[in-house]
Amino acid sequence: MTKIILKTIKELNEWRLSNQKDISFVPTMGNLHLGHRELIRESKKLKENLVLLSIFINPLQFNDKEDLIKYPRTINKDIDLACAAGADAIFLPYVDEIFPKNKIKYLKASDDLSKNLCGNYRKGHFDGVCTVVYRLINIVKPKVIFLGDKDWQQLLIIKEMVAKYNIKVAIKSIDTQRDSDGIPFSSRNNLLLKNDREKVRLFSEELFHAKKIFNKTKTIRLNNIRKRLKNKDIKVEYLEHVNAFNLQRSTSEMNITMLAGAIICGSTRLIDHIFLMKRDPIIAIDGPAGSGKSTVTKLIAKKLNFIFLDTGAMYRALSWYLTKEKINYENGKDLNSFLSNISIKFKSVAGSKQNVIINNHNVTDKIRSQEISSIVSSIASIKEVREFLVKEQRKIGEAGGIVAEGRDIGSKVFPNAELKIFLTATINERAKRRKNELEAMGLGTIDFEKLKNEIEQRDFEDSNRKISPLIKAEDAVEIISDGYTINQVVEKIVGIYFETIPKELHL
Ligand code: C5P
Repeated sequence: MTKIILKTIKELNEWRLSNQKDISFVPTMGNLHLGHRELIRESKKLKENLVLLSIFINPLQFNDKEDLIKYPRTINKDIDLACAAGADAIFLPYVDEIFPKNKIKYLKASDDLSKNLCGNYRKGHFDGVCTVVYRLINIVKPKVIFLGDKDWQQLLIIKEMVAKYNIKVAIKSIDTQRDSDGIPFSSRNNLLLKNDREKVRLFSEELFHAKKIFNKTKTIRLNNIRKRLKNKDIKVEYLEHVNAFNLQRSTSEMNITMLAGAIICGSTRLIDHIFLMKRDPIIAIDGPAGSGKSTVTKLIAKKLNFIFLDTGAMYRALSWYLTKEKINYENGKDLNSFLSNISIKFKSVAGSKQNVIINNHNVTDKIRSQEISSIVSSIASIKEVREFLVKEQRKIGEAGGIVAEGRDIGSKVFPNAELKIFLTATINERAKRRKNELEAMGLGTIDFEKLKNEIEQRDFEDSNRKISPLIKAEDAVEIISDGYTINQVVEKIVGIYFETIPKELHL
């Protein structure tokens, strides 16, 4: 095996030009261990790309100069490990190559994400991380960059930086890799004396113990854990229970949180964390009529083994029943007494289809008629109807493990959903899809212009009603599906889901 070592940007560019392939990039500071090997293996899964691993000890991210001096350097062993794991080339630049004097573009890490946990104790560290990663991405121009969940705060900060600067690179991560004694692999482990290593082991063990208790009680008692650590003579720098995504202090309504800490062993500082989850994740998919939500949501539910919830079908079923029973829904009292006797159920049938049953009436096909489509939005704007259905929807999603689609899922029904998608497409594309769908259901030839007007009218009503209008939630990812196949949209959303939820929670 020939080892390709690139020491300058010029050499790197020549190598890239001679290969003409996209790059999967694994940036490291060397002293490679089995965690890095797993990163390389993960990056090898994108078979069409070349894997480039960089070894660069970034001076900007060391707030403590002593720490920089004693940071372990094992270049020859690193090259062997990286090549054996499948790296196609190693980028080994000098400091001047990455940071030419007087030409450094210094970046600032997100204030919100860097003000607590490690950021609180390592001033300037995350600014240094952002600065080097930005620079390396500009030099390497990778298609995908591979990082570890082990440095979760760093991962969130890099993701935020990439989004802020609109950098076209995908970020993939792997879960924390642990040694047989449970402690996470880290280059700094090499600096530990035997007795210190035992302390790190006990620290990780405490975190896992806390997780066990959390799974039963749904609470974390930080002071108890701190006391236990003190009794074991472990010097804690910090121990915090925070929201896993914004790193704000955990509150009772948060679902996915993280118990994270740093300990000091001799002159070495080590970090570890575990993720905690109260209920299974929720995916909210909102968007206008005909954006492909139902088809996409159904497929995602199947892929992830989640419950599929079509909230539009509930509004449609109710509209059908109100019409059938000739209820005067303008009258709040009549409406409320009618709603108190309503039961809407979904029943799975062969071929991933779901039957919609309202008070024992199977209305699966009837609710798709143009007659129902033309009245459903005005019925969906009634306060009592919305309150009733939102309550029903929340009951269905109580335990999580659900992917729900509608208009107000991310903004109203499940505002704490872990992933929010706003799926849309141009009006022509949506009308075209609906026409094909309705004709495939055997509803005869559909007039395109009439259907387009009907969809536009419904979008207008849904977006302009007073209560819970159709809006893109602030934290939703927008996907415009024109030009994409259904499977491409599904893959994209599932991909975002897997990169959003910490890997450890998928296991
Ligand atoms: O998604 P679908 O076209 O079946 O939805 C039918 C109608 O139900 C929408 O146009 C909207 O008026 C209403 N709806 C809603 N909120 C939801 C889902 C649907 O208002 N969460």
